[in-house]
Amino acid sequence: MNSWKRIYPFLSVIFSVILLFGCMGNEDKGPSNEVYIYSARHYDVDNMLFKKFTEKTGIKVNVINGKAEELIERLKREGKNTQADLFITVDGGILNKAKQAGILQPSSSPTIDQNVPKELRDPDNQWIGLSTRARVIVYSKDRVKPEQLSTYEDLAKPEWKKKVLVRSSSSLYNQSLLASFIELNGEQQAEQWSKGIVKNLARTPEGGDRDQAKAIVSGVGDVALMNTYYIGLLMNSKDPEEVKVGKSIGVIFPNQNTTGTHINISGIGLTKHSKNKENALKLIEFLTSEEAQSMISKENFEFPVNKKADLPELLKSWGTFKTQKIDFNKLGKHNAKAIEIMNKTGWK
Ligand code: FE
Repeated sequence: MNSWKRIYPFLSVIFSVILLFGCMGNEDKGPSNEVYIYSARHYDVDNMLFKKFTEKTGIKVNVINGKAEELIERLKREGKNTQADLFITVDGGILNKAKQAGILQPSSSPTIDQNVPKELRDPDNQWIGLSTRARVIVYSKDRVKPEQLSTYEDLAKPEWKKKVLVRSSSSLYNQSLLASFIELNGEQQAEQWSKGIVKNLARTPEGGDRDQAKAIVSGVGDVALMNTYYIGLLMNSKDPEEVKVGKSIGVIFPNQNTTGTHINISGIGLTKHSKNKENALKLIEFLTSEEAQSMISKENFEFPVNKKADLPELLKSWGTFKTQKIDFNKLGKHNAKAIEIMNKTGWK
């Protein structure tokens, strides 16, 4: 009897420890504490946000990166066996492609509805906007006066011969830009524009958006097409050369008196066979929250979808601007035609 009394406290400690570790083990391994993402976004801020989400909720975020089209194919192939709970990509056309492929399911909650305005969500809530970006004209502050041009159409005029810089036609950003012109102005005008751009190219398309700005500064060309966030990334780069490039270019938000500046959207969708639906919804709610949206804007210079989010000074300095009034899903509808036109007109 006496010896039991002495052993008992030790035994209870041992049992508590076993219980504690048992629970911790479950928390780490159980499917209920993880979420899996297939992502085609390639920005540092995303990983910062996933880390923050894990700190807040204890839910581990697993990310597999890849090209959007490949990830969609993978989700189709994997079907019910997929591990992915969420699909993230840039481009409204691709979001629509994922929807059409039948790999998504609606995701909605009062919080998501409050965070993201209706026009930045799929009408069936199969995808939710995470950020927007504008495709603008940048120019050499040394050699170009902003009064010299104000529209995308101006870039195709003879006076810009050998002065225009743009990345290749394989870029979704360019495909969606041309798709927007097909929607707004019709195929014929879109083709004329593409032809004009090709005629005016300063060099065969190469590199990403930032490389076009760099080529302006090194004198290869005078004007370029570029997504807005890359301007912010250049100006705030750790590389002083990039900062110099960012400061040497001016920005024009095109078509303010006509059809508006082209914007595109980046978004997230719940996969059809998600096994961690609750966690996935929590992550969508977090990513669209004021806090996460302010971070997307501060770190990656994208426009937030949540109207309450803070904007960095650069975005504030740009003020408000007129945007194209197009259903983002239309960018996908015209994608094949856009590629056909680019091929036909010799846009490499
Ligand atoms: Fe990008």
